[in-house]
Order: sequence, then C-alpha cells, then structure tokens
Amino acid sequence: ELLIVKPKQERTGLPPLENAEQGNVVTRFPPEPNGYPHIGHAKASIIDEEYAKMYGGKLILRFDDTNPEKERLEYYAAIKVGLDWLDVKYDLIKNTSDDMEVIYKKGKELIDSSYAYVCTCDKETISKNRREMISCKCRSGDLDQNNIRWNKMFDKFKPGEAIVRFRGDMSSENTVMRDPTLFRIIDEPHPIHKDKYRVWPNYDFAVAIEDSIDGITHAFRTKEYELRTELYYTLLDKLNMRKPKMLEFSRLEFEGMPVSKRVLKPLVEEGKVSGFDDPRLPTLEGLRRRGIVPEAIRKFVLSLGFTKSDTMPPFETLESFNRKIIDPISVRLFIVFDPVKLTITNNNLTEIEISNHPQNEMGKRQVMIDGNFYISGDDANLLKIGDEVRLLELYNIRITKIGSEVEGEVIGTGYKSGISKIQWISRKNPVNIEVLTSNVLFINDQFNENSLEVKQAITEQYYLELNVGAQIQFVRFGYCRKDSANQAIYTHK
Ligand code: ATP
Ligand code: MG
Ligand code: MG
Repeated sequence: ELLIVKPKQERTGLPPLENAEQGNVVTRFPPEPNGYPHIGHAKASIIDEEYAKMYGGKLILRFDDTNPEKERLEYYAAIKVGLDWLDVKYDLIKNTSDDMEVIYKKGKELIDSSYAYVCTCDKETISKNRREMISCKCRSGDLDQNNIRWNKMFDKFKPGEAIVRFRGDMSSENTVMRDPTLFRIIDEPHPIHKDKYRVWPNYDFAVAIEDSIDGITHAFRTKEYELRTELYYTLLDKLNMRKPKMLEFSRLEFEGMPVSKRVLKPLVEEGKVSGFDDPRLPTLEGLRRRGIVPEAIRKFVLSLGFTKSDTMPPFETLESFNRKIIDPISVRLFIVFDPVKLTITNNNLTEIEISNHPQNEMGKRQVMIDGNFYISGDDANLLKIGDEVRLLELYNIRITKIGSEVEGEVIGTGYKSGISKIQWISRKNPVNIEVLTSNVLFINDQFNENSLEVKQAITEQYYLELNVGAQIQFVRFGYCRKDSANQAIYTHK
C-alpha cells in the first residue's frame, strides 16, 4: 500500500511562498539584542524556521546589532537561550556588526554615486524639513564636500553633528522616502566591537545590505515596517544588489500583556514585576515559568497563520494548546487551601498508594497516614454532622463533630456514588507552598495591581520529590508548574 505524505505546507498551515524553489529558500530571524525574547519573537522565528524547513532551505540567526546604545551581551545570550527552548534550529549564526566594512563600502558607494549625502543640519531642522518636504542645502553639496564630511564622521564630528542621508524624494507621499538616515554617529562602546566603530548604519540600511549579502530569498517582518519596504528595495536597486522578497505579517501580542520594552522595562525597574522572567510577562522566560511549553507555542503560532490583520488572540487560545500537551504528563496531587483539621477517630491505615496519573504510566506514590488530615476550608464549611463523604482515593467517612476542627469516622472503603468527594493532606508530613496566579498586567492601559495573586496552600509530601519545572495538576484547582521547593506557578485550568 502507498503511504501518502502530505506536503509540509499543508501540515504547517502556512501558505506557500512566492518564487520559492525547493532547496533554495533562505530565511532569517534578525533580532536586535536589546531585550529579552518574547511571544512576538517566537512567532517570527517559528515562521522563519517553518518556511526554511518547508522548502528544505536554511534559516540564519542574525543579530541586528548596530545600535550600541541599547545592546548588551546579556541579550544576545538570552535570545539564543530562548530559541533553544523553542526548539527553533538555525543553520547559521552571525552579527550584522561583523559586516561593518562591507556596510561602509556600500555607504561610500552611494555617496560616490550621489545617491547619498552627509547632512549637518540639526535634528529639529531635519524633522521640520521632512514634514514640510523641503530640501536643505546639504542635499546639493558636491561630491568633495560629501567625501570630506563622510571622513570627518569617523573622527572629527560629534554625535548628532552629521548623518548620512539617502537622496530619496523629499516630496514623496511615503515619509520614509524623504531622505532617510543611513548612518549616524554613536559614541558608545559596542558589546562586541567596543570602540572600534562610531559610525553606525541605521536599521533600514543594515537590513537591506545584510539580507542581500546573506543570500536571503524571503525576508519577513511585522506590518508596521510596511512603509519601509519601498526604501529597502530602492536602496538595493541603487546599489545593484540582489533583492530578497520582503513580506509582512501581523504583530503578535496578547490583550493586556504588552511585549514592548518601553512598557515592560519600567515595570521591572519600578519593581512592579519581579524581573523579565516574571510569570505575568509575555517573555519566553515568563511563559516558561508559567508552565507554557514550547510545543504549545509553536502550535499556537502556526494556528494563527501568516496573517496581516492585527488581531489580539486571547491568551486562552495558547492555554488550550498547552493543556492538551501537559495534561498527559502532569502529576495529579492533592492541594488544600485555608486548611481545617479533620481527625478520623477509627482510622487503622498507615500508608496508602495513589496513582500519579489516572490513565498514564506515571508511577504511584506512597502516602503516610495516621487519621489526622487537613481539608480545605471551603469543603469543611459545607459539612454537617451526619454527612457521609468520601476522602478521595481513601475511604468513606461520616462526620461526627463540627467546630473549629472536624471529626469523623470511617464507614467503608468501597467507592460510593452520590456522595461528595473531598481531597485531603495527611498531617504526618504536609508541605506548605505558595501558589502564584498571574492575571492580565494591564486593564484599560492601567497597571493591574492585582495582576499577581499569592495563595498559601498545603500539598503532599510527594511535591518535594518532583523536579523544579515539573507539571502538576492540583486536583480541582488546575495545572501548575513547580517553580521551587515552596512555590508553584499556576498555569491554567
Ligand atoms: P522592538 O520594538 O522590540 O525593537 P522590533 O520589531 O525591532 O521590536 P526585534 O527585537 O528586532 O523587533 O525583532 C526581531 C524580529 O522579530 C523582527 O523581524 C520583528 O519583525 C519580529 N517581531 C518583533 N516583535 C514582534 C511581534 N510582537 N510579533 C511578531 N513579530 C515580531
Ligand atoms: Mg525587539
Ligand atoms: Mg528594534
């Protein structure tokens, strides 16, 4: 019998790429190492990787590191860690900053062919002229003047005194084309090259040169860059360089959970969240601590597809992909909130065995008992003298006394339908933990002061045997991830 293998693109749900040849597709993920990777980077890198895989091509991880003011080694590392965690595999890793000599050469080429000039106007004048579509006198400077000024940018000029501008079209409807900046002076040590360079290309110039020389066939970026695409192609055109196909997709972000550094950084600095790995944040580290697994992120991203419309999917969509993946591997454990003591007067068991998962082979745990338990305050409040209830996995009891503590007696072990079932923790070896629950960070653009709930709880001894990172389903509470010996982070229902 023939085994019919569906083409990859049907399996990923991504539409085919225009002009893509099997074996010849090269994509790139070009993060700027100026912050921690987040769900938006997950989307971009997963799409980049899936397309490379779909066509048997290559993915390049390229650090877009030409603004030393904002970049730090710590972020290069964090991005690599994030991609490893996501299982995004790249074929090549490089830094834009390693190509500075080529980038200077191309800049000089534009100056020499009069497609670029050095402008010494001040910032305000430049913006005003751009708005009013007015050319400045630098634009008509001759080649000698431009060459002298270009050279002075490497030593004499101070930051802000001169920039290289592309000779675009000052009256273009597209404001990006109104003589955009190609190079500026930044006197900050670069994380890798230290003080070797001070003239740095801006994003538009660097990305066009790099995509072209890296052999990128299909480049993707978010929709807000759409107006810059005209500049991208024009620059490559003037330089007679090969043009990749640039495509845009929508930004991914969750409602009330912004990804922007401009918003997140102050929260970290003001201590409103514990760090960039706070489980409330959409950073990969935050999502990981919250118990979201990388396979779920990939499925979620691919389910959204290559869309241009900016929708904010509900976080619950990601959660439902996650639930399907973690349910079969989550240890079932009892948990009790607002503990009330329950004493069984005729208990004669000392130890019982409970399965770690109702269906799957995840082993069993021994639980020591002596008739002294904790039950949840909520359950205790509903009890009356004479009630018959089942202590889950243990036995049926009848309530004999109610007060600040509860007493009962065993009335049988057989499963009895129609009675309520409650969970319990043996008082022989209870484990106190804190459970952190994350809520949305912002409500109507206001920081949600209740974005993190901390609940005290008591769980089973077995919790201590689990590794940090273990997924747990606390019975009748929800899925959680063990974050430390005394802290669990709520994942979802
Ligand atoms: P920032 O505002 O953080 O500087 P950026 O758009 O400059 O964001 P980089 O950090 O340089 O992004 O991101 C690398 C790649 O990830 C880019 O191709 C960018 O388009 C993509 N990306 C960034 N944020 C998102 C997002 N929220 N959704 C989808 N893709 C994103
Ligand atoms: Mg970024
Ligand atoms: Mg950026």
